[in-house]
Amino acid sequence: MFLLPDYRVRQRDYLLNISRAITAQLDLGEVLRMVLQAATSMLSGEVGIIALREGDVFRTRAIFGVPPEQAHLFDALLEELPASPGSSEAEVQAFHARLRSIARRVDPALRQVVALPMSVADDMLGIVFIFRAYAGAPTQNDYQLLQSFADQAAIAVHNARMYAAVNQERQRLAAILDHSADGVMILDPQLRVERWNRALSHMTGWRPEQATGRHHDVVIRWRQREIGPDLTDMVRQGWPRQRSDHTSPETIYVEGDLERLDGSVLSVGITYAALTDEDGRLLNVIANVRDITHFREAERLKSTFISVVSHELKTPVALIKGYADALSRDDADWDRATIKNGLTVIEEEADRLAELIENLLEASKLQAEGMKLTYDDVSLPALARQSIERFQTQTDKHQLRAVFSPDFPIIRGDTKRLRQVIDNLVSNAIKYSPQGGEIVISGAFTDTEVQVSVRDQGIGLPPDQLQRVFERFYRVDSSLAQKAQGTGLGLYLADAVIKAHGGRIWAENNPDGGATFSFVLPRGD
Ligand code: ADP
Repeated sequence: MFLLPDYRVRQRDYLLNISRAITAQLDLGEVLRMVLQAATSMLSGEVGIIALREGDVFRTRAIFGVPPEQAHLFDALLEELPASPGSSEAEVQAFHARLRSIARRVDPALRQVVALPMSVADDMLGIVFIFRAYAGAPTQNDYQLLQSFADQAAIAVHNARMYAAVNQERQRLAAILDHSADGVMILDPQLRVERWNRALSHMTGWRPEQATGRHHDVVIRWRQREIGPDLTDMVRQGWPRQRSDHTSPETIYVEGDLERLDGSVLSVGITYAALTDEDGRLLNVIANVRDITHFREAERLKSTFISVVSHELKTPVALIKGYADALSRDDADWDRATIKNGLTVIEEEADRLAELIENLLEASKLQAEGMKLTYDDVSLPALARQSIERFQTQTDKHQLRAVFSPDFPIIRGDTKRLRQVIDNLVSNAIKYSPQGGEIVISGAFTDTEVQVSVRDQGIGLPPDQLQRVFERFYRVDSSLAQKAQGTGLGLYLADAVIKAHGGRIWAENNPDGGATFSFVLPRGD
């Protein structure tokens, strides 16, 4: 073909337009159509097709010069093409012959085909075909010309695929962030929030749109920081750049009580990791925030357990040992009353020890396997009276009384466990009313439920702790309450027994002083 001088100018203009379209990230289909139109026109072709490789097959992605109703014919024909045409001269010739026959089947006028692979870095993405109405082989020039367009088309496809992959990756990351149970935030180098996930929003009370753009120190406010350095200080000192002594850590761990937006407090542990460029400059800080309330609670329980148990074990053991030592001294001649008194103390303290051990075993068994009940017929008034009989012998200061109507129903329940509950409530009523007073166990019932209450005239409970006394090892933190010995297990076990029966237990303060502990149970059949 004879090259007109404006030929190169047209080619350049076309290529310029196409690369602008690629840069502007126009729709891929649009760019490929531009490529085809330009290539077809420059090569004086009739029809242009871009087929992209998808796995083992080629599919038409853009078509030019074919009426839409005929486009599907090319689709069907392209399916006959091998995905790798081969590279030897013979293979290429055979490939072109095949293409020509395909084209002629669509339109007998299409007698020549110029086809070139579209490749980026040895990756063959597809093929550009230009079909012409005249016979003969395409020239070297035709190929050179088409190559420039094929290259552009390859870049457009490559870019679009990369863009789609990046987009997909971004969406995947966003989904991971949003569905993570841990709080996650991403900070810019100035430590302003770039991303704030849903879990973190839940933890802190700051919604993502409120937190985004704010400085880390505004949204992460420590009521008390117990472990780890201050992030802002660390970054000011050059974190995470490795210092010469290699002491700068790659991640920072901080733990403490975080102040939420509404002023309440949450125990969290935050791990900060730095994302840096090749020169070690900070690009982002990625922080993982974990709610450690349960962990802390477990720690607290463990230490409470140890202090309570060691204290509670030591006292009776010391008393038993003291009395046993004294009574067994050879040089002393104790009178009967003193010996009796000493033995009573030893017996009581041994009982206390046995009860403590029993409670501890119960509590750990409860955790491991839940509460198992043995059902029989239970008379709660009888249990109340037996309890009163037993405890009245231990105190002169208190007057114990049971108030049940004679028709109080028999219920289905575990006698041994329910006796344990009533005994515990009565024993607490005595323990926590050191001035003495009246202790009344009363009953009430409806068609479906029975209720038992134990009322005392003692020290009562701080209103905000009425619920908490049922927690494991929980003891009211006041000097009055702490005067009485205890492990904080009694009400925890009572709560477990009542719940296992399908009932509920609660505490109230009496208007005229003292506390009332009540439980209701279903009557059963
Ligand atoms: P313990 O008595 O061994 O400490 P409990 O689980 O029986 O454990 O009780 C938990 C806490 O509830 C007690 O430490 C006490 O502070 C409080 N409490 C229980 N009963 C009463 C009561 N009748 N009056 C006031 N406070 C009580």
